[in-house]
Amino acid sequence: MLKVENITKYYDDFLAVDHLSFEVKPGEIFGLLGVNGAGKTTTFRMIIGLLEPTSGKVTLDGQKIDYSVTDNIGFLTEERSLLTKLTVKEQALYYGVLKGMTKEKILERLDELLEKFGISNYKDKKIKELSKGNQQKIQFITAILNKPKLLILDEPFSGLDPFNVEMFKKQITEMAKEGSMIIFSSHRMEHVELFCKKLVILKNGHDVLSGNLADIKKEYRKKNIMIKGDVDLEKIKKIPGVISVLKNGLEYEVKIDALDRAKDVFKAISKNDITKFSVEEPSLNEIFIAKVGETYE
Ligand code: ATP
Repeated sequence: MLKVENITKYYDDFLAVDHLSFEVKPGEIFGLLGVNGAGKTTTFRMIIGLLEPTSGKVTLDGQKIDYSVTDNIGFLTEERSLLTKLTVKEQALYYGVLKGMTKEKILERLDELLEKFGISNYKDKKIKELSKGNQQKIQFITAILNKPKLLILDEPFSGLDPFNVEMFKKQITEMAKEGSMIIFSSHRMEHVELFCKKLVILKNGHDVLSGNLADIKKEYRKKNIMIKGDVDLEKIKKIPGVISVLKNGLEYEVKIDALDRAKDVFKAISKNDITKFSVEEPSLNEIFIAKVGETYE
């Protein structure tokens, strides 16, 4: 298990991460979210041992993370860190050896992954000759070459088309099923929502929201009602507790401040010709904006 206990990081007198704690168990995909500058990269660097926390500690299966355990870690950074003059194979050998793998094992795993991602024919191509999306695939393959116990994925889908996003998702889910601990950071809330059962949202280095996504949604009081049919907008807007009414294609989206208000809205339109009335949890994006006070991107 990865245990992040009360870590704080100061850059001189600037507080970048403030008493952050969370745990990631084998098989879990954990979301670490926040706007630019919130402290995600600093946190990732403290986790993999590149930066020493000012206080607090990080352990992987009870052990402090240092060179003796880095063989068990994979890190996909947001900015590309490819050795572009090398071929795909040369780069895999370079990083694989650094992670303590044998040459045979590296080539076997590389062939398996290149085939899985449909790019076997790029093995002897220089990385700089590949498209942006294929470079991202190589970066991902390099990060998972050693089947890491702990995998950190910072914006893994950047530059990928929807087909390849699906391919990455499948691979990430498979690795979680096989017992990897995965920390995932993305600006795309729909990806986080789909993947992560647990998450933390950072703002200026502080944890502003954390826990199980299902609990977070349940505890967030505001709900959305989706209605299809003949609706008197002005009448609904006047119901106490109704925050807003939006027309969304053929549906109306009524935001209410608490679940209790749904019956008042229902009463107000129950005699109308209605084909849909559904009370839904808010999206993670809505909760994020409410907590952080700005949009993610
Ligand atoms: P982004 O999404 O833009 O990558 P982030 O959440 O990863 O942002 P960090 O890079 O961890 O944020 O930065 C957190 C804060 O610490 C920012 O205000 C940043 O300016 C500051 N910071 C980061 N690295 C240093 C450093 N080496 N020296 C001083 N301040 C730094």
